Amino acid sequence: MAFELPKLPYELDALEPHISKRTLEYHYGKHHQAYVTNLNSLVQGTEFENADLDTIVKKSEGGIFNNGAQIWNHTFYFLQFSRNGVKTPQGALAEAINSTYGSFDKFKEEFTAAGATLFGAGWAWLAKDASGKLVIVKESNAGNPLRDGLTPILTVDVWEHAYYLDTQNARPQYLKNFWEVLDWNAIGARF
Ligand code: MN
Repeated sequence: MAFELPKLPYELDALEPHISKRTLEYHYGKHHQAYVTNLNSLVQGTEFENADLDTIVKKSEGGIFNNGAQIWNHTFYFLQFSRNGVKTPQGALAEAINSTYGSFDKFKEEFTAAGATLFGAGWAWLAKDASGKLVIVKESNAGNPLRDGLTPILTVDVWEHAYYLDTQNARPQYLKNFWEVLDWNAIGARF
């Protein structure tokens, strides 16, 4: 079965002014789509031809991994946003963030610092380990914490293509805007 670009549960202008329609037209419509097109081509005739995306992320290497993980990562990234999302963590995730980082504001500082200091292209993640403990991890390129047995909860894409149309070289401004479009109900469901 061919991989497909997932539908977004919001319009492309829904995240403005924080993430523009133009950015989503390119980031979702061109970049995310390109990973889907590439993966469908690359898996043909390989052991991953009928594999699901989680298996590809966990087991593959090279171009199949790069494109498969980028599909997984982008879908996860785009589905954590909403036009009118719940602005702060709720329930069990709120408790875990407070007990691990001291407060939501302290967590935002640490997570933002992870995204800001990641050299080059990649993703910063909030994930939980097998015991339920929260961790912030930095992954280069298409990296995904599933490969280390962690469960992803939140991610920020710090590839330049995620922000250059809106904030040019200013990754810190993008990292500030990022918090404004998150939907903590959707994110809490992953915890
Ligand atoms: Mn991206």
